[in-house]
Amino acid sequence: MAPTSAPWHSETALDALTLLKTSFFGWLHVTNSLYDALFAPHERSERPFLTLDNGHSISYGDFVARGAQMAQVLVSCGVGPGDRVLVHAPKLADTLALYAGTVQAGAVYLPLNSAYTEAELAYFVENAEPKLIVCDAAQETEWQSLSRGTQASVLTLSEAGGTLSDWADAMPRSFATLPREDADLAALLYTSGTTGRSKGAMLSHRNLLSNARTLTELWHITDADRLLHALPIFHTHGLFVALNTALLAGAEVRLMKQFDVDLLLEELPGGTLLMGVPTFYTRLLADPRFTRDLTSAMRLFISGSAPLLAETHAEFEARTGHRILERYGMTETNMITSNPYQGDRRAGTVGYPLPNVEVRITDLEEKKEVSAGEIGVIEVRGDNVFQGYWKMPEKTAEELRQDGFFITGDLATSEPDGRISIVGRAKDLIIAGGFNIYPKEVEDVLNGIDGISESAVYGVAHPDFGESVVAALVPEADKVPDLDEVEAIAREKLARFKHPRAYRVLTELPRNAMGKVQKNLLRDQDPGLK
Ligand code: AMP
Repeated sequence: MAPTSAPWHSETALDALTLLKTSFFGWLHVTNSLYDALFAPHERSERPFLTLDNGHSISYGDFVARGAQMAQVLVSCGVGPGDRVLVHAPKLADTLALYAGTVQAGAVYLPLNSAYTEAELAYFVENAEPKLIVCDAAQETEWQSLSRGTQASVLTLSEAGGTLSDWADAMPRSFATLPREDADLAALLYTSGTTGRSKGAMLSHRNLLSNARTLTELWHITDADRLLHALPIFHTHGLFVALNTALLAGAEVRLMKQFDVDLLLEELPGGTLLMGVPTFYTRLLADPRFTRDLTSAMRLFISGSAPLLAETHAEFEARTGHRILERYGMTETNMITSNPYQGDRRAGTVGYPLPNVEVRITDLEEKKEVSAGEIGVIEVRGDNVFQGYWKMPEKTAEELRQDGFFITGDLATSEPDGRISIVGRAKDLIIAGGFNIYPKEVEDVLNGIDGISESAVYGVAHPDFGESVVAALVPEADKVPDLDEVEAIAREKLARFKHPRAYRVLTELPRNAMGKVQKNLLRDQDPGLK
């Protein structure tokens, strides 16, 4: 009888191919540095890796074997080295195994924010030209239509299973790792893009591994740690900062589907390490059940992705005795600075440049380095810095200098010993009548006023001054801000040109999934000044 499918699609033929590759690449001693460092050492290990919300636990060995099954599926779908695997799936153990499998198969992992709408997703398909799309089973119909006319196959993942999981179940539990150079891409992460189109940041094996190694060492992460993981896994923070370091150290991970205060309070006594955005900490502090006792087994609380208010830092220490360690980084560069593990973790600063990461602060116009204490833009160079924007050579050239420094767009000052404090994004800088106004300076004053929980200061168009200052205020629960008093304090503490010309009282600030305040929305929705 004639075969019903091409022989290279049969499992026997696949196994033979795998065998051939194993001996060929084994003989060549080729490497795939990210896979070799993060996953290969755990093959057959019985140590626990993931514990899920349903109580189910997965050992390191089983996880690596699952990754190999995923790699087998990828190859069967025609995914080759360098091909993009677009992932728009829930936070599941299989989604992480897909990350492992993608790296092992030499392909490029491309996770997307689960909140994106169909219209937004169409752009990513067109821009990234993925070979495979892995989506939530609940959105399969939309994805089938989005992929029509492209080269991409569509497979599904969901808590109840999906076509990818079913196919992986039937695959061998080992895979001959495909070789990659250190400069080859391992991931493509799209920036959140509050202005213009999202840009795909190309991240190489070297970019990801160098940063994971540095952070693991700096933060003393070991196999005695149990990481409480409540971040999304489509962003650099939850995927690379949290998981690559845990994998490198062989730590245990309590994988929570999402951030949930009740669940986190329950899990705190069993954890040693939490990586969170500032909102995690403010939400914990807002809950009276969050006590010092609950955190007694915890070793380290880390915050990043958005500024941690100095008050939150102080309140957290008063409540728990722990000083939150704040670090700073971005999708394009991985992590750049960190407060020290041993030493002064100072509120309102992001600490020092990481080992092997060069940082300089330059003047906005003259592009020369500024002196300590002066405000300038953070530029960064090192193995952590990405390879450029996918298919956007002009954008890459605008932001990545010839000498290898990447212009972050974050404004900061440094102290003589190199400690850095961020004062805001360059694009949020307000220029009123020729004067520069750094929103953070005004926000710090407003946040210090009794009854104000937080604030966001932004610029709106002004016929005379070009721009003028507006402040959005969020009062503390059950408080009504006295705007006359707020104005009086602003007058007392800030030069006249920095005074907000209007106040908007809001119940909360608009934030994205990583807890960043979306000033673009505040600006767009502002009624403007009369
Ligand atoms: P993303 O690429 O989504 O990780 O966003 C990176 C941006 O988040 C940086 O350019 C900063 O503007 C901001 N960011 C990250 N960490 C911090 C921090 N600790 N303090 C202030 N801003 C931060």
